[in-house]
Amino acid sequence: MNFSLAKDDTPSKQIASDEMTSLLKKFRGNPEAKSTLLNTFAKVERAKQEWESTVDALPELICVVDENGRVIRANRTIETWGLGSVTHVKGKDFHTLVHPVCAKPCPLESFLQQTKQKTANDDIIEAETYDTLLQRHIQMRGKPVLMKNKTDEVNWVIILHDISQRKEMEKALYEQNGRLTAINAINQTILATHSPEEMAQATLTHLQSLTAFQQAHILLNVPQTQKLRVLATANNGIRHFLQPGQEFPYTEFVGQNNHALNHFFLIEQLNELPNLTPVERRWQQQNIQSYINLPLVMGSTLVGILQLATDDPPTFIPEHIIILREVAETLTIAINQSQLHQKLEHSNEELQDLLRAKHEMIENVSHDLRSPLALIKGYTELLQDGLFGELTEEQHDALTILETKGDQMFFLINRLFNLQTIDKHALKLEEINPQSFLAEAAKAWQVLTTNKSVQLLLDIPISLPYLMGDLNMLNQVLSNLLDNALKFSPEGSAITLRAQAQSNYIIFTVRDEGKGIPPDKIERIFERFYQVDKGSASARKGAGIGLALCKRIVEAHDGRIWAESAGEGQGSTFFVSLPTNNTP
Ligand code: ADP
Repeated sequence: MNFSLAKDDTPSKQIASDEMTSLLKKFRGNPEAKSTLLNTFAKVERAKQEWESTVDALPELICVVDENGRVIRANRTIETWGLGSVTHVKGKDFHTLVHPVCAKPCPLESFLQQTKQKTANDDIIEAETYDTLLQRHIQMRGKPVLMKNKTDEVNWVIILHDISQRKEMEKALYEQNGRLTAINAINQTILATHSPEEMAQATLTHLQSLTAFQQAHILLNVPQTQKLRVLATANNGIRHFLQPGQEFPYTEFVGQNNHALNHFFLIEQLNELPNLTPVERRWQQQNIQSYINLPLVMGSTLVGILQLATDDPPTFIPEHIIILREVAETLTIAINQSQLHQKLEHSNEELQDLLRAKHEMIENVSHDLRSPLALIKGYTELLQDGLFGELTEEQHDALTILETKGDQMFFLINRLFNLQTIDKHALKLEEINPQSFLAEAAKAWQVLTTNKSVQLLLDIPISLPYLMGDLNMLNQVLSNLLDNALKFSPEGSAITLRAQAQSNYIIFTVRDEGKGIPPDKIERIFERFYQVDKGSASARKGAGIGLALCKRIVEAHDGRIWAESAGEGQGSTFFVSLPTNNTP
């Protein structure tokens, strides 16, 4: 602190003008020096005035006191502090001036005494206190002012700074920080669980350390039964009369006073209420005088209620109410989310039940269809074998048609069944050598393609990585692709079956030179019952489920199936990629 007070008073002014007069006398006959001197004095005077008004403008009360603690000079802030005018305070005891009546021990007084012990120029003393008399927080600073050429004479500068505002802000920040920490702790506990009961219990336990209450409970709204279910209770003293799990009609909590449960309200004095609810009566019997109702409201829905009761009404100070409201908000969201979660789990279970029922139904229906079909097929064979007498050629042909159609129906029923039921878990995995798998499959198709004058070309490397897959299912995929290729291939064209290893996949391709697929239909052909040209003869041979089934089987193997075609008449290529990662 490097500070010198410049407030002038009459004696110092007198000294200054005496000094000036004697100096001017010395320069009589030297008008030039005299004028320089007068200029210098004028400058000094101006600087003094500037300094004085600066010091006056400071918010701190600045005062110079002598060794007896009497005011020598002070800045104008002393007036704004209501301690008297600048001239009036001079000569007065500084402590008595600030504290006309003083309660002992007095921090200001002991600060002033300590300041007096300081006599070295750079000895500064600082302290802070809440001054009960001034009703403000003050920061006090003191420093000795050594008089030039008079080393034994010491004055002291005392600076009092009103820091009430800063202190209030600090307090508010501190409180807000405490509030946030508390709310954060509650939030974390609430979010760590999915059960509304546990959330409620954790909230009340936390609140016990934050606000003083005698009894508290959290209720869950059960709108279907117009009741409130007790989720959790807590008490600091007399045991709570409610038990978690109990349910009560709304009327137990809302009396004729009609305090709406979905609104925040604070009852300061139960005794002053004309009509009490059963719960309020129980509280009154337990000497509880005041309670607070915090609704847990989501939108316009009442999720639940948080109530805290106390026998000491001023306990619910605004600060606590802010915390309670914020806690209620978090709790509402958490309970609401947990209810949604429960509902979702419930619907999921229902969905699983439905899926199981659907699966069973498909199994039953396909069994019911397959049994009579097996009988029809069996008797057809017996008839064809002549067990029931010789057959004419016509009868024989008719029976052959019956048998073929029966086989087709079997095939279709099996496909439909597989389409509904195949997934990862239904696969019977085994180690497959892709090279021999493809070669075997091709052998079976060689006859059929030759019959239609179509060439079946193979492009299969000798060594391919092994696959884990369901041989029967992958056979169905390949058969379906080759069947389609043959169905849509003109005579004299070729079908190429190719395989290649690509990073962790094996890609099978079936390429034909047939009618091709329009680009806008290429994705849709994998949908159930989709056929590009429903009316065509080749479409009539199928039902539009073959590729959908292939897709399902391939995806159950974590693979992918897709098609490419340059358009109508340009042939088509079908790709199946299967992972080899799980190959031993
Ligand atoms: P479908 O049993 O009716 O053949 P798919 O699901 O196997 O049923 O095929 C669906 C449709 O995709 C077929 O009706 C046909 O329109 C088209 N398609 C499939 N493979 C080919 C192909 N190789 N060339 C041209 N169109 C094809």
